[in-house]
Formats: sequence, C-alpha cells, structure tokens
Amino acid sequence: MVTEIISVGTEILLGNIVNTNSAYLSEMCARLGLSVYYESVVGDNEKRMAQVIKTALERSDVVILTGGLGPTEDDLTKEVTAQVMGVELKEDKHVRKRIEKYMEIYAKNHAGRKITANNWKQAMVPEGALVLENSNGTAPGLIIEKDGKTAILLPGPPNELKPLFEEQVYPYLRKRQPHVIYSQMVKIAGIGESQVADEIKDLIHSQTNPTIAPYAKPGEVHLRITAKADSEKEGKKLVKPLVRELKSRFGKNIYSTEENKSLEEAVVELLRDQNLTLSLAESCTGGAVAARIVNVPGASEVFLNGYVTYSNKAKRKSLLVKKSTLKKEGAVSEKCAKEMAKGGCMAGKTDLCLSVTGLAGPEGGTKETPVGTVYMGCCYRGKTTVQKFFFTGNRMRIREQAVTSALVMLRECIMDAAAADS
Ligand code: ATP
Ligand code: MG
Repeated sequence: MVTEIISVGTEILLGNIVNTNSAYLSEMCARLGLSVYYESVVGDNEKRMAQVIKTALERSDVVILTGGLGPTEDDLTKEVTAQVMGVELKEDKHVRKRIEKYMEIYAKNHAGRKITANNWKQAMVPEGALVLENSNGTAPGLIIEKDGKTAILLPGPPNELKPLFEEQVYPYLRKRQPHVIYSQMVKIAGIGESQVADEIKDLIHSQTNPTIAPYAKPGEVHLRITAKADSEKEGKKLVKPLVRELKSRFGKNIYSTEENKSLEEAVVELLRDQNLTLSLAESCTGGAVAARIVNVPGASEVFLNGYVTYSNKAKRKSLLVKKSTLKKEGAVSEKCAKEMAKGGCMAGKTDLCLSVTGLAGPEGGTKETPVGTVYMGCCYRGKTTVQKFFFTGNRMRIREQAVTSALVMLRECIMDAAAADS
C-alpha cells in the first residue's frame, strides 16, 4: 500500500520546531511494511495545503497528515482535507461531549481559564469519518475513506499523536495490509556503525525477504529484520535464520532483540539477574551515566550511589584518589580511573563501580592527552580493569559517546563478573 506523510505547520517550515512526527511516522510505516514514496511539509495556508493533499491523494493510497487539528483559525487540516475529498463537515455529538468534559477538567485545574467558543470547531467531523478518541487532548484523530483513498488526520503534539497512532491507527493499517509484516530488532552496542555495515555487507547485498535495515543511534546500531509473509508464523520462520546469523557475527555486542529495551535497561536487568549492586564515579560525564541508569524503573534495587567528582579535591575526598596520582599522572589517567572505581566501590559499599574521567574540551588538550581522551575503570570485588577511549567531535558529542561507552563497558564488566563467579 503506497502511503504518504504530510506534516502541516508554518513553524516547521521556519525551523522553529523539528519535524519529529515525520520521522516517527516513517518508522512506523516501515514497521508496517507500507511503501512510503513521498513526504512533505506544508504551511498553514489553505491553497497550498489543498494542492499538497490533492497531489498526495492522486499518487498514494493512504495519506497521513499531522498538525493543524487544533481550535485556532490557522488550524485548517480537517477543513481543507474534507473539501479536497468532497465530504461535508457535521457536528459529532459524542466528540462535543468529550470536549465539554475535557474542558471542564481543564478549567478546574487551571483557575481563571475559560472555555472559548473556537473549541467547538473540533467537534466538527467529516461525514462518515472514523473518529479516533484522543485521551491526551481535545482534537480527535480522523480517518476519512473515499473512492478507494484514505486520509488519516492526526494532531501535531507528539504526546497526542503517538498514543493515538499506536493504539488506533497501527491496528487499522495492519488490518488493511494484505500480508503480514513480521519484524525483529537486533540491538548492537560497542561497535561503530561502519564496522557493523561492513560485517553485514554480504547479507544486505543478497537480501530480498527478509530485509535488514540498519539505524545508527548515538553509540549504538539497531538492525531491523523485516519479513513479508502470509502469516505471523511464516514471518517468524523467515526472520529466525537471519537473526541467528547476526547473533553469531556480533555475539556479546548484541544487548537485546526486544523492540523497546534500552541499553540501560539491559544493564539494570543484568545487575538484577546477577544480584550485584552498583555505584558510579563520574567526572567528565557529570552524572549523565547515572541519569541513564535511573531512566529504568526499579533501578534503585541495584544502583546505590553516584559520585560526581568534578574537581581533584572531590576525587580525593569522596573516592580517596591519591594526591600523588593526581599530581604525577593527572586526573585524566589510567591510574586515576582505577582509583576512582576502587574508591567508589569502597565508599558506596557496592559490588561494582564504574568510573569515568576524561577531557571533553574544547580547551585543556595536550599532545599526550588530547581532547576526547577518556579513561573508564570498572572495579569488581577489588579487581579493576581500565579502558582508554578516544572520542571525536565537540564537547557534547564526546560526553554523549562517553556515556554510551560507559554503559557498554559496564555491561561487559557484569558479564565478566558473572563468568568469573560461575
Ligand atoms: P493544537 O491543538 O496544539 O493546536 P494541532 O493538531 O493543531 O494541535 P499544531 O498546531 O500543528 O497541531 O502543532 C501543535 C504543536 O505540536 C506544535 O507547536 C509542536 O510543538 C507540535 N508539533 C506539531 N507538528 C509537529 C511535528 N511535525 N513534529 C514535532 N512536533 C510537532
Ligand atoms: Mg494548532
């Protein structure tokens, strides 16, 4: 099924907001196995919007529009789509009731705010359209079907769009697909994008069904394996050998094959499984590794302390890093990382401690220790291993890579600890 995405909003054209909806919808369509050949952005202008919608409906089976469903004058998506498709707008009693209720609660929680008349515009629905209830806002989503073409209208705010899509649009589109799309994720960390691409070159070259689509995330590479089949069972069967092949090629670097599992979740899960407690001793990442760990609900069971020791004094005081180490080797050194990790384990009374100390720049680099040099130490029961990294890019990029690498190293460290104990 040929599908097209249109993002509506002058603020997108002006660069005031980043078009994340389009990226999200494209990924969802790919997951559904829909063929997306065109995507466009159009401002809040009636004439130009009509033209874009008309063209899209001529060349695609399904057109997904986001934005411009709100109550204000410049929210025109529904009106223009209805006009292009030749359907009338009529007030929907059920939608009006929902808006009344939503507004009542809103007024209660926001003293002094009134319900303005323009809100009722959102209760107008194209005749015969499927109304998708929006539990996070007032504008419902709409599906209009006419003459073999479908327009799907969704609100612009991502926190309204995503649940609406996942709960209602996804199952709708899935049902309309003649075949089943089965896909499986393989998440890799600790190897660069180009290396992954190189190692799967032959697989990508010979792919037909299933296909492999790589996505590079900061410090990670995700591979989506997608098969088209007549049934879910057959899809699974097609995907399985390829996943097995990837597992044999990337081994321990695959941290999950689950769609929604993050790297930090995999780390917390491993700690929990191995019954190990963790502390973190961070310098150049300033607590960002800890922030990733506490993204995971229930992390408190395993993560006990995070030390942000940015100054030399703090490293000495909180982590008992030796004065002589700092003086002779400096804070960005193998020895300092080692002592930080050891000190973190002791101070935090944990089984494991990971330390990070490095130079994110832009200033302070030397020939021996250039900007981007980061040392990480992992201490487990008195034994500490240290790795030296060299990251490129600006301050933010260096810190971002350091955080992901810290999680990767932590994962390796836990697996090594588990292997040593068994
Ligand atoms: P509202 O009821 O808030 O007016 P709407 O459906 O009319 O919703 P817009 O007015 O187009 O949507 O956008 C509202 C907000 O939603 C924008 O200010 C922006 O924060 C977010 N938004 C809209 N479109 C996009 C997009 N394509 N990508 C990311 N965010 C978006
Ligand atoms: Mg709006």
